[in-house]
Amino acid sequence: MSKYNRRQFLERSSIGSIGIIGAGNAWGLTRLEPIGDPLNAEYPYRAWEDLYEKEFDWDHVGYAAHCVNCQGNCGFQVFVKDGIVVREEQIAAYPVVRDDIPDTNPRGCQKGAIHSSNMYEGDRLRYPMKRIGERGQGKWQRISWDQAATEVADKIIDIYESYGPGHLMSHWGTGTVSHMPWTASLRFATLLGGIQGDTISDVGDLNTGAHLAYGDPLQSMTSDSWYEADYIVLAMFNPSVTRIPDAHFVWEGRYRGARIMSVTPDYNPSSIHADVWVPIEAGTDPYFYMSLVNVVLEEDLWSADFVKEQTDLTLLVRKDNGRLLRQSDLDEHGETDVFFVWDLNTDAAVPASGSMGSEEKTIALGERDPALAGSYEVDGITVEPAFVHMRKEAARFTPEAVQPTTGVHPDLVREEARHMAAAKKLVMLDGFNIGKHLNGIYTGWAQALFLALTGHGGPTGGIDTSWLDWGWVSVLRLAFFDNTKFPRLDTGGLGEYMHGHMWEEASRHYDPKKLKERVGFDVEEMMAMAHESIDKRWMPHYGPVKGMILSADNRFRRAKGGAAYRERVLAEATDLFVCVDPRMNSTTRWADYLLPAASYYEKWDLRLTPLHRNVNFFTAPVKPIGEAKPEWEIFTLLAEKVQERAKARGVSKYEDGDFTRDFDTIYDDYTMNGKLTTARDAVQWMVENSPELAGQTFEEGAEKGFLTVQTSPFPAHTTVKPDRPVNPWEHQVVDKKPYPTLSGRITFFCDHDWFARLDSKVPTARPNAGPQASNFPLIFHTPHARWGIHSNWRSDKYMMRMQRGEPHVCISPQLAAAKGIGDGNRVRVFNGFGEFHVQAKLMPGMRDDTVMMEHGWEQYQIEGGRYLNDVVPTLLQPLELVGNWGHLKFQFLRWNQNQVANEGSVDIEAAPAQEMQA
Ligand code: SF4
Repeated sequence: MSKYNRRQFLERSSIGSIGIIGAGNAWGLTRLEPIGDPLNAEYPYRAWEDLYEKEFDWDHVGYAAHCVNCQGNCGFQVFVKDGIVVREEQIAAYPVVRDDIPDTNPRGCQKGAIHSSNMYEGDRLRYPMKRIGERGQGKWQRISWDQAATEVADKIIDIYESYGPGHLMSHWGTGTVSHMPWTASLRFATLLGGIQGDTISDVGDLNTGAHLAYGDPLQSMTSDSWYEADYIVLAMFNPSVTRIPDAHFVWEGRYRGARIMSVTPDYNPSSIHADVWVPIEAGTDPYFYMSLVNVVLEEDLWSADFVKEQTDLTLLVRKDNGRLLRQSDLDEHGETDVFFVWDLNTDAAVPASGSMGSEEKTIALGERDPALAGSYEVDGITVEPAFVHMRKEAARFTPEAVQPTTGVHPDLVREEARHMAAAKKLVMLDGFNIGKHLNGIYTGWAQALFLALTGHGGPTGGIDTSWLDWGWVSVLRLAFFDNTKFPRLDTGGLGEYMHGHMWEEASRHYDPKKLKERVGFDVEEMMAMAHESIDKRWMPHYGPVKGMILSADNRFRRAKGGAAYRERVLAEATDLFVCVDPRMNSTTRWADYLLPAASYYEKWDLRLTPLHRNVNFFTAPVKPIGEAKPEWEIFTLLAEKVQERAKARGVSKYEDGDFTRDFDTIYDDYTMNGKLTTARDAVQWMVENSPELAGQTFEEGAEKGFLTVQTSPFPAHTTVKPDRPVNPWEHQVVDKKPYPTLSGRITFFCDHDWFARLDSKVPTARPNAGPQASNFPLIFHTPHARWGIHSNWRSDKYMMRMQRGEPHVCISPQLAAAKGIGDGNRVRVFNGFGEFHVQAKLMPGMRDDTVMMEHGWEQYQIEGGRYLNDVVPTLLQPLELVGNWGHLKFQFLRWNQNQVANEGSVDIEAAPAQEMQA
């Protein structure tokens, strides 16, 4: 291979260009006929016009959206000619909810608008393939579906025969999160007893502070609800970049009169439109929200009525041991989940209604007037309301006290606290970055406290976590076999931590003394708590996984620890590693078997996300490329082969705890005795069994591309009505039904031992780990990308043209100058256990203490196959490991341990330029 440098390359290129231009003058122009009248019928170039016009010609039109984890759910018309998708257009026909609220038409983003090109990129998987070299070596043999499914089925049975149930992971990831693939993978795992990790906490998206407060982190709002707010907080949320189809509701809300506050360390494309940008020090958010709490308490801007009815701050706390006063404290036969308030009307302790153990299933106060202050005696036990504890803790966080930590001026805190308290409707739009910080649980909890103190909930606002579990009734029935069987539901962050031995990178990266000083525990103590949580069965963990079937899960790209994580996971999964995916990526390239999945425009599917009320239909506008198949049909085939091979090998069933895994009828069970063999069958079943779609038909949805949820009883905590946006917790705020929490109220007092041990019984603020707990000075964070959705579209040629055309890190000009780095220079990003080389981009909105790299780049795109997660350590938040306190118990997609993604720290230096190779 000949080598020459960039200067030589440019010299040769420019010589070549001059030659072409010269030749063009001599060759091209002399061959064109001069045109007199171009409208003349004899015009000689009419055929070229036809070519142009035929660009807008098609054979038929279908419908689809893009079920990547963008939450957008934007319906598109898909135009097909000669079996190829030629373009797409937004549907833009969703009904208007109410004339005085902006509608959701048209919705889309730049990635969706070019999916018709992206789906034909070179990384599409077209045929089943079997590895014939070492794992990751890139040597493949194309095989038939029959061979692939038979061999995989035999290996599944081998794993059960060798190790028994519990050693096969059959996991759906976040790469495709629409109804059909999700259900297909889960139903297969359910029948087999496969391990399915929590996909929200896997990627650090779980808002554990919201769960701690409200008992469910998934209750959120439609984006048109934002428009009605008088005050909107963008909390680590950059909607202009990461929520493109819905960002207009924020900005239109601003024209309506809403005040917008952006709380982010960087001056980003959303901050520039805000009324107030709070340039907070990274990782100090709980301090900021606690200082807002401090102001409303000190300035008496809080609502006693809302607090007394809706929160647990009225519950009596024993002074002797700091625990909630329980019925079991007063009566040996009493309940441990019945609590007391001090009723000012009767001057006596009375049971609080609405708790898990209470027979009164309401939080209405009736004749009671609970005390929020004072000290009382109950059967010789001195008690005081939890409000006293909360207030004492909040008093520590005056705006002046937190300013050295947050960098936010006290005047700004006071002014905004007053505006927020006065807002008729206040919404806090939480970005998914919150859960990716070690102290994210404190951020969400403090936000919930501020909202409750200022009387905001239900119709008057709340936290929007961008999840809403509506429209999934039929999906859950299908996935969990009518709720008669379940897979091994696993934690997300904790599961990956244990399988990937992530404590090893954490131990190398963090200084134990500094870490303990900052966050209250070191890695050793953290791991002792993790093992205690597992040993006590607070959180599940299923031991070594010998085989993995991963669907739409690019975990070797996203998991922290990078290559080290991958090596450990592959060393454990010795017997089988199968990937079901449309694309070759950082994970599929390590597979034993590649099973190509259809892309969004090639299959029947459904998608409903929280942001709007329309269920998009995917009508398989075009046949799958090569031999790719919809996921439902892939798992149908695998089930068929497992049943066939089980019978042939004399295997029938495995007893597996509470369930029997019927290998000899798994195909019959999976397909409902042959009724649901195709993706279309499954989608039709889901539509016909969706109560929220009652009165609408499958045919109607297929005809227009979507159906609309007008009313639905199924969001657990609110009622969907046709003429207004959806707000969370209306059943509690308006109808006075209990919250799904231990006390039945919004929780701000937790007397669990671990909360006490970590000084966190009431909302408070704690530092994150950050660079201060390590020996590397710069924050390294990896937010969601503008030009891709996770790793989707990250290698797309059109998206690459919109940025630097290659992976890059963003740094401030000041940091660049201090390090001698110029824009476009190659840099080395490193810490004690890893490094990678990429291009530097100078970005004035960045802080000087931070290196930012949008996530999602594939490993093969970075020099030497290194990866940005090679320098990212991660930790566990012990509070999220608690599993024996009311609503703090393991719940799939609701309460377990996040994978903390943004606690890395690095250094950066200029790296020598690479020689260009021809
Ligand atoms: Fe909408 Fe997501 Fe498609 Fe973009 S990628 S158009 S946000 S569904």
